[in-house]
Amino acid sequence: MAVDLSSPKPIRLAIVGIGKIARDQHLPAIAQDPRFELVAAVSRNAVVDGVANYRDIAELVAAGHDLDAVSLCTPPVGRAEIAMVAIDAGLDVMMEKPPAATLSEVARIEAHAVAAGRTLFATWHSREAAGVAPARQWLEGRRVERVTIDWREDIRRWHPGQDWILEAGGFGVFDPGINALSIATEILPGGWTVDDAEMHVPEGRMSPLAADLRLSCDGLAGARVPVTAAFDFLHEGPQQWDIVVDTDGGRLTLRMGGSVLEVDGQVSEAPDAEYARLYGKFAELVRTRASAVDVTPLRLVADAFLVGRRTIVPAFAW
Ligand code: NAP
Repeated sequence: MAVDLSSPKPIRLAIVGIGKIARDQHLPAIAQDPRFELVAAVSRNAVVDGVANYRDIAELVAAGHDLDAVSLCTPPVGRAEIAMVAIDAGLDVMMEKPPAATLSEVARIEAHAVAAGRTLFATWHSREAAGVAPARQWLEGRRVERVTIDWREDIRRWHPGQDWILEAGGFGVFDPGINALSIATEILPGGWTVDDAEMHVPEGRMSPLAADLRLSCDGLAGARVPVTAAFDFLHEGPQQWDIVVDTDGGRLTLRMGGSVLEVDGQVSEAPDAEYARLYGKFAELVRTRASAVDVTPLRLVADAFLVGRRTIVPAFAW
C-alpha cells in the first residue's frame, strides 16, 4: 500500500465525495496528471465512469484495491472519520478545504497520520492562485498599513442546493470566506487575531450568510496591521473576491480570488491552475513522505465563531 520510492509507477488514487468540486476541478486535474491513476470513486449517489465505484470508504477499503492514496471532497462534517479510516488502511490523504469541521478533528487526523507514517495534505486551493506567491514576495519588507478584504458571491450560483453549507459545521459564508483568509495569511504571515465579528444567520439555519470581521496581523517593527473582511453570500451581479493591501510603498490588489494581481499600476493575470498545483504538491509530499497541514485560516474562522455576535435575519430559501 505504501508508495515504492524507487518505482516510477503513478500514485493509485481514490476520490471520495463526488459533488461540485470533485467534478469541476479534481477529476480534470487528476486526469491531466500522469503522476496519478484514478482507481476508484466513493459516493452515495454519484458514479465516476471508467473506475470502480463504492458507496462509502469502508466498502472501498474492503474491496482490496492496491491503493496508495485518497482525495477527500466531501463536506467538512464527517471528513475526519473518513480520513481516519483511510489512514488505518495505510493510505496517504489529501483533503479539501476546510480540512475538517473543527480544530480538534484536524489535530486528531494529523496525530494519526504521523503515528502511521502517512502523508497528510490539508489543501488551501486559493493559495495556489497565480497572484498569491508574487504578492507575498512584493509585500516582504514593506510596511503594511491596512488590509481590506471583500469576498462577495452568490450562494445560489456556486453552491446550488447545498443545504449542508448552512447547517452547523457547514461554515456558511465562511466556506468561501476561509479562502480569503487562506490567501491573507499566506501573503502576510504572522500574528493573526480576530478582534471583532458580526454574523447574520438566517432564521432556521445554523451558519451565517454574511459576516463582517475586524482582524489584525503583525506588521514591521512590532506594529499591528488592521484588517477588515466583509463576507457576503447573497451577492448578485459581478462577483467580488478582492484583497487590497495598502503599504508605505503603494497599493497591492488581488482580484478574482487571487488570480489577478495589480501592483504599481501593472496588472498580471494567469490561467487557473490551482488544482493542477495542488495535485503536484500532493505528489511531491507523497514522494518525499512529508505532510503539509496549516490550520491558521480554520483557527481564524473558529475564533470568529467564538467572539462573534449573531443577528438572526429573514429565512433563506434556494
Ligand atoms: P457538494 O457539491 O455538496 O459535494 C460534496 C459531495 O460529498 C456530495 O455530492 C455527496 O455525494 C458527498 N457527501 C458525503 N457526505 C455528505 C454529507 N453528509 N452531506 C452532503 N454531501 C455529502 O459540495 P462541494 O461544493 O463539492 O464541496 C465539497 C468540499 O469542497 C467543501 O469542503 C467545499 O468547501 C470544498 N470546495 C468547494 C468549492 C465549490 O466551488 N463548490 C470550491 C473549492 C472547495 P454523495 O451524496 O453522492 O455521497
